Amino acid sequence: MPRIAYVNGRYVPHREAAVHIEDRGYQFADGVYEVCEVARGFIIDMTRHLDRLDRSLGELSISWPVARRALTFIIREVIRRNRVADGLVYLQVTRGVASRDFAFPTNAAPSLVVIAKKVAPDFQAKRAEAGIKVITVPENRWDRVDIKSTGLLPNVLAKQKAKEAGAQEAWFIDEEGNVKEGGSSNAWIVTRDGVLVTRPANHGILRGITRTSLFDVAEKLGFTVEERKFSVAEAKAAREVFISSATTIAMPVVEIDGAAIANGHPGSVTLSLRQAFFDVAEKIPA
Ligand code: PLP
Repeated sequence: MPRIAYVNGRYVPHREAAVHIEDRGYQFADGVYEVCEVARGFIIDMTRHLDRLDRSLGELSISWPVARRALTFIIREVIRRNRVADGLVYLQVTRGVASRDFAFPTNAAPSLVVIAKKVAPDFQAKRAEAGIKVITVPENRWDRVDIKSTGLLPNVLAKQKAKEAGAQEAWFIDEEGNVKEGGSSNAWIVTRDGVLVTRPANHGILRGITRTSLFDVAEKLGFTVEERKFSVAEAKAAREVFISSATTIAMPVVEIDGAAIANGHPGSVTLSLRQAFFDVAEKIPA
């Protein structure tokens, strides 16, 4: 069965799907995106993802390419046409096609692309059994990483460096030695007292949707969450470390820059959050 993509009003075979060479997403990374998990036939946390899309678009003065209800329909249609029960749906909105000029075009319509991908349901579960490794890199991104922009070159370079080091994620570290977030995930620790700690999301990191939903999961399980900065040293000495994102949920980290966390195995708090996530998160039938 051929994969199908949605591109600017049409459902087209994935291998033929294309945007114009003067799309501002292509030329300037002048666009935003969202990734939702699809699990057991449900779209996870779509409301929060579309709320964040609305915010990202607003911050960049890009208008919605279609009404929110229509976008919801398109997302479900792309999932349906690709028969994705477990995997992800990716959507991207750019400022549209215009003759190359830095200032905003006056007459461009925003572009919309939606694609869906199957992922084996046990793919992330297997990674979670072993845990992942993280490296640290100095923060070198712009000031507006709270916007989920497609401008991800520092993230690409950091994650490539992680891969070359045999790790799966790279953490950006601020000038004080505190952890900001990963190249495509938020960062958490569990202290010796069993308190969950994650950096405040008002400035300098992306407010992850999974991060927000994990606050709900933590409450349900009776864990305390503290929003504060934490250093690399504190993370290395923590009881548990994990990352969160739509595709990884809560993913145990067992090594930072080659140093093992605790006994070098995934921690029980992380695994309990991971286990409870599906029940607590919003599930909309795909
Ligand atoms: N931080 C960054 C830089 C990301 O790219 C992502 C996801 O791609 C996240 C955090 C996690 O966000 P979410 O939980 O919404 O997937």
